[in-house]
Amino acid sequence: MAAFAGENMRINADRLWDTLMEMAKVGPGIAGGNNRQTLTDADAEGRVLFQKWCEDAGLTMGVDKMGTMFMTRPGTDPDALPVYVGSHLDTQPTGGKYDGVLGVLSALELARTLNDLNIKTRHPIVVTNWANEEGARFAPAMLASGVFAGIHTLEYAYGRKDPEGLSYGDELKRIGWVGEEEVGARKMHAYYEYHIEQGPILEAENKEIGVVTHCQGLWWLEFTLTGKEAHTGSTPMAMRVNAGLAMARILEMVQTVAMDAQPNAVGGVGQMFFSPNSRNVLPGKVTFSVDIRTADQDKLDSMRAKIETQAAEICAELGVGCSVEAVGHFDPVTFAPELVANVRDAAEELGYSHMDIVSGAGHDACWAAKMAPATMVMCPCVDGLSHNEAEDISKEWATAGADVLLRAVLKTAEIVE
Ligand SMILES: [Zn+2]
Repeated sequence: MAAFAGENMRINADRLWDTLMEMAKVGPGIAGGNNRQTLTDADAEGRVLFQKWCEDAGLTMGVDKMGTMFMTRPGTDPDALPVYVGSHLDTQPTGGKYDGVLGVLSALELARTLNDLNIKTRHPIVVTNWANEEGARFAPAMLASGVFAGIHTLEYAYGRKDPEGLSYGDELKRIGWVGEEEVGARKMHAYYEYHIEQGPILEAENKEIGVVTHCQGLWWLEFTLTGKEAHTGSTPMAMRVNAGLAMARILEMVQTVAMDAQPNAVGGVGQMFFSPNSRNVLPGKVTFSVDIRTADQDKLDSMRAKIETQAAEICAELGVGCSVEAVGHFDPVTFAPELVANVRDAAEELGYSHMDIVSGAGHDACWAAKMAPATMVMCPCVDGLSHNEAEDISKEWATAGADVLLRAVLKTAEIVE
């Protein structure tokens, strides 16, 4: 391999941080974070600002019919497919300043740094702002990258409605960001995404860089348990058909299944409904959803099978009716080993502490991985807090990840001497 040009190349830390703080002024939240939900006026304002920054850096814009922004820095080889680097600028209603934004603006900073150093690459580099990653206003999350990857149709996406009944298609038109490009028509050489961890592991392990090897798969299993509504005072214990008790035992069992599947597996229940939910009535009907996640496909399937089998046994013993419906699913994603190695090597060469990590949340990179070799870089966030206006990172963490991103992307985009 040729000597790596720009051996000590670093991004401009002050410029990246200033750019992050400037974007955070658009769509301010109520507690120091941001409310820049997708296809709102604030989203439009953020897009225009980002477009200006990109054009000032000499990038040319393409926009697809979902409103995703592709900002291209040309390469030297007309036959070389682009390396895409991005994330999302939309936020949760009470979101932080860094979730998604760090990845998009670090990709811009990468282009700015290459301009400063007058570095050319063989492959074009495309700084990408995926539309509607969060899915807070228009479910599901990762909607535009999902259409790009052929998971959803454009018609499905355009028909998604916000809580007010406004549709994605109409709102995209209203803010003026319906692009010309067919969604998914672009071909990618590779895809990199830099994101805050949104979990507590890197900070607890005192590491600056997460080398993301996988994205967890998940099952959401919705249970409906049917017992017999009865008076809590006058029904003898032996005569009860208690759906609440069955749920309690299933919760405990899910915990055991997840603990037995360690490491790198989680399981729990976040949503429960009791009917009639009255102090002195044994519940006749209980619905709750089990959420299990792991990056290992076999483990994920075996956790699901154990939970369904054991839940049926628990319910049979208590005389409670039990039905299960799978209401959500993602397969685990294994990121491209050669790109993962680029990230790990970049961290190593730059002297940043690092560890391999699995993404606990979904990201656009998980859909991009269906189209091209993909991976992610992560930096810590304070107390693992995200989807919260108090979400916080240090300037040093932001810088370390952006330096690693730059170096890893250049390994793929190839510097032209
Ligand atoms: Zn995000």
